[in-house]
Amino acid sequence: LRSEPGATGPASANAEFAARAAGVIPGGVNSPVRAFGSVGGTPRFFVSGSGATVTDADGREYVDLVGAWGPALLGHAHPAVVEAVQQAAARGLGFGASVPGEYELAEEIIARMPEVDLVRLVSTGTEATMTAIRVARGATGRPLIIKFAGHYHGHSDGLLAAAGSGLATFGLPGSAGVTAETAAQTLVLPYNNLAALEHAFATHPSEIAAVITESAAANMGILPPDPGFTEGLIRLAHAHGALVITDEVLTGFRASAAGYWGIERATMPDGLQPDLFTFGKVVGGGLPLAALGGRRDLMEQLAPLGPVYQGGTLSGNPLAVAAGLTTLRHADDAVYERLSAAADALAVELDDALTAAGVAHRVQRAGTLLSVLFGDYPVAPATYDDVLGQDTAKHRAFFHSMLEAGVNLPPSAFEAWFVSAAHDDRVIGRIAEALPAAARAAAAA
Ligand code: PLP
Repeated sequence: LRSEPGATGPASANAEFAARAAGVIPGGVNSPVRAFGSVGGTPRFFVSGSGATVTDADGREYVDLVGAWGPALLGHAHPAVVEAVQQAAARGLGFGASVPGEYELAEEIIARMPEVDLVRLVSTGTEATMTAIRVARGATGRPLIIKFAGHYHGHSDGLLAAAGSGLATFGLPGSAGVTAETAAQTLVLPYNNLAALEHAFATHPSEIAAVITESAAANMGILPPDPGFTEGLIRLAHAHGALVITDEVLTGFRASAAGYWGIERATMPDGLQPDLFTFGKVVGGGLPLAALGGRRDLMEQLAPLGPVYQGGTLSGNPLAVAAGLTTLRHADDAVYERLSAAADALAVELDDALTAAGVAHRVQRAGTLLSVLFGDYPVAPATYDDVLGQDTAKHRAFFHSMLEAGVNLPPSAFEAWFVSAAHDDRVIGRIAEALPAAARAAAAA
């Protein structure tokens, strides 16, 4: 079943595997954006990864800018992470009981996030946000949640309205299978709009348990909060007795050592901070692990201490804990400096190539994260509506040109690009070489 490297025709292993997968898995994928639905063509099956590159089933190597959708902060198959997982595996795959790595990982999170007193480990970002909301409802006794349009917090029922990510990619307003009663418990507001937030609190006094927000929106492309928005949001929520849940699943330990909150923290008046945080992706080092954490009195609402139930057979799994702990311990200043330098260099190369080809665009940044919007944006976009109208045909042409040239980008115009500590100057140079032709392809689309 091997074929010419790079082939995607009938003789390609990628195409063969995609056909087999489609026979037994809905859409051939276990998470929708992997399906190439918005870009067309054959999804690649990756068989290995090392540092900044991944290799597909046809033996073709790509420079990777997906980074497993975030976890691969140190690069793929980082030797120390792999070794830690191998050693943990040799000791046993899980016991359904506590292991020392769990409190060590919690301590590591708290060391970076002084706002967090206690941490609960779960297995996915979806569980982390779902549980944070349950804690907020349990602690306040209130029913309603506010989320912002274009923010993605995982796929729990109450959080799928106007949710960015795959729903933006496929143009879906929400999900079938969510009852009207559940949907009505979530108020969806425009991002970066404090007046709308104020209005919602005025309309539903004493009913709103929490505002959940991506620390910097990163599932509709990158859209950082406007200056003053996060501060205003926290002030408004607290003034109305509601909690703030800052979702750092994507940005946590990546946008900076302490996530995007770590960037905004210094601009906040003393003591003004979110109440709960959610983490995922980097914190699990590539294995299924996520977390929620926050103020002691809120986290103590969780069973076995308090009345809010949450649990998980695989929570705190020793392999996942080993991967996350080793990743965070290796993510030192030098790693974040490398990530910043790589993102800065890439942003410049991308901007230059698209400008030279005459493609209207905007490169968006949040710390070490970047994305590109295809369209005319004389002023920075601030809301989901601002970005929904972008020219996805140009993205499609750009994406395929880059893929053919050996650069693996997110297969959606609405997703962030992820660099890693292995994205050195040589790797950025490889990407830069592919950009002019891709920009011309976008121009022609
Ligand atoms: N929150 C944010 C900000 C995310 O980006 C994601 C996933 O992309 C999630 C939550 C859900 O995480 P998971 O896919 O691990 O369930």
